[in-house]
Amino acid sequence: MPKTIFQKIIDREIPAKLAHEDEHCIAIHDINPQAPVHVLVIPKRHIARVAEAQASDQAVLGHLLLSAATVARKLGLEANGFRIVINNGRDGGETVPHLHVHLLGGRPLAWPPG
Ligand code: AMP
Repeated sequence: MPKTIFQKIIDREIPAKLAHEDEHCIAIHDINPQAPVHVLVIPKRHIARVAEAQASDQAVLGHLLLSAATVARKLGLEANGFRIVINNGRDGGETVPHLHVHLLGGRPLAWPPG
């Protein structure tokens, strides 16, 4: 299976603006931001999408949310709030088949999403 763009970023084959990194995940600023802060939290272990996650991925899935909250605090989003989004499959708007959590903030976000 060819590497996804996110795997290439994790492997340092292509550059990205890092917001956070630890043993299990990397967080990068989105190349096409939809809000003043738009960060992607990506597991180092390849999971295509949340629908394909296994019971053995439970700790990694939890770690992604905790890491998104850490990045939100680090980037000053805690006081006004933020949104966490996971797009899954075609109707969900997924374009990169490597699980990632979108962290969006820095402006009021409309609901429902488009
Ligand atoms: P999704 O549509 O949920 O799969 O999200 C994929 C996201 O990855 C989009 O918001 C893209 O703007 C973002 N993206 C694609 N390529 C890069 C890249 N090289 N660096 C940072 N973000 C990227």
